[in-house]
Amino acid sequence: MSQNLFSDRLAEAMEKSDLRQSDLIRIAAEQGHKLGKSQLSQYLSGKVTPRAQAVVILAQALGVSEEWLAEGEAASQPEAAAQEAATPDAAAQSAPRGESRQEPEEGSKGTKTMRKGTATGRQGEGSSMRQFTKSHKLDNVLYDIRGPVLDEAYRMEDQGIHVLKLNIGNPAPFGFRTPDEVVKDMQDQLTECEGYSNSRGLFTARKAIMQYDQLKGIPNVDVEDIYTGNGASELIQLAMNAFMDEGDEILVPSPDYPLWTACATLAGGTAVHYVCDEQANWYPDIDDIKSKVTPRTKGIVVINPNNPTGALYPREVLQEIVDVAREHQLVIFADEIYDRLVMDGKKHVSIASLAPDLFCITFNGLSKSHMVAGYRIGWMSLSGNKRIAKDLIDGINMLSNMRLCSNVPAQSIVQTCLGGIQRSQQLLKPGGRIYEQREYVYDRLSHMDGVTVTKPEAAFYIFPRLDPDKFHITDDDQFALDLLKDKHVLVTAGKGFNWETPGYFRIVYLPRKHTLHDAMDALEDFLSYYHQ
Ligand code: PLP
Repeated sequence: MSQNLFSDRLAEAMEKSDLRQSDLIRIAAEQGHKLGKSQLSQYLSGKVTPRAQAVVILAQALGVSEEWLAEGEAASQPEAAAQEAATPDAAAQSAPRGESRQEPEEGSKGTKTMRKGTATGRQGEGSSMRQFTKSHKLDNVLYDIRGPVLDEAYRMEDQGIHVLKLNIGNPAPFGFRTPDEVVKDMQDQLTECEGYSNSRGLFTARKAIMQYDQLKGIPNVDVEDIYTGNGASELIQLAMNAFMDEGDEILVPSPDYPLWTACATLAGGTAVHYVCDEQANWYPDIDDIKSKVTPRTKGIVVINPNNPTGALYPREVLQEIVDVAREHQLVIFADEIYDRLVMDGKKHVSIASLAPDLFCITFNGLSKSHMVAGYRIGWMSLSGNKRIAKDLIDGINMLSNMRLCSNVPAQSIVQTCLGGIQRSQQLLKPGGRIYEQREYVYDRLSHMDGVTVTKPEAAFYIFPRLDPDKFHITDDDQFALDLLKDKHVLVTAGKGFNWETPGYFRIVYLPRKHTLHDAMDALEDFLSYYHQ
């Protein structure tokens, strides 16, 4: 039953010595060692095995032998050490300092990977610990935006290496501030937000969303048709759970924001990917959509503006998607979280506004438009022909009730955010940060040998392609990892977005221009010698 992993032995030693993560971090700090929280979590989750030096630190703090912790098989854990380790102080005192310290092995990763030993650990005591594995529901679920390449970046950061992160669409760390008015409004309302709200959300928030939907021409949306969530993410998962049964198929774009594929799969359904065509500004390929419809197809996901391509779909393309959905009686799931981050004087069209006779669910939120991704506030609006979805709506209500409600303080700012002047609009015009950063990154990429790129019109992502004849990329992750290791620049590989053709990657152009400048210089240099 036991997989005999380092993570198991670490967890076992922590339990036996009654030390929590915070105790270990503190003890290590008292002994002059920096042990990061994320680092420790990753060791415990089994995602990362530590370098030899970290093993020494952990063994010292836990009062166990390094050999046992590292290899498991060497010896059963000395009982005396285990007893001494019963309290954090005792553990700290009993720790043998620096003995038999192992240096990291030389290897491609520059780290020592622990051998999976036989974790005899305390087997002398006759107790083997029950191991817990993740559920099989997760077997085919992928969410590589935060995958192994990011783990490596964290490891490098733990070693003091500065990594230029162009990987996650989280505006706040890049100096995009929440408007003061919004913060103040939340502060003022905090004491009124102590209880659960209606499971769909506060009336005032939903009313403001309803009015926003009206302005976007989304038909037949009542206050009762709006559900707030802890980010759109929670609602994407909720909707997929309510909608998908085993054997059901849903059309999802490729490349996609991978949460959609992950949630459809987790819900027991099958995500069938339709291609977005790079040659046509990354618009959905309607013929491909048509060719992927089967009798099992129940719905279609449209991400517009798109992550990762930054494409904004014109009305005609949306109309063609609606026509297919109408012909095959599909539910439309419209992810429009970037609808207020549109450039070049273009206007976003909500697909639901073109489909009053179909049942649509439109997802939106404040994470991106108001740079409050950490507040966790999003919503979904049911629109159009709700009569055909009565039972589905029952299911949505049940799941919404089961999670009680979304974060109420965050709901309290929806009205403020959706009304009045939208300050983020300044960022999207010439002279504004997002606009200028897009121009810069697009210009630099366009001039790099072997790189082709489509200019994004919305959001803050760009999805370049590397010439297969020049770079011979067969493994996107390896490319991202090599770039990270050589140049300390972190991007997300195309594969992470369910895009099968190798040689693509996503850049988030939220960092300030001087950082983008350094990153582009580094990338250009890397591409001058790199190939697979
Ligand atoms: N949809 C898309 C296309 C996204 O890119 C993201 C986040 O990056 C989300 C939904 C989730 O947003 P939220 O912060 O509201 O959960």
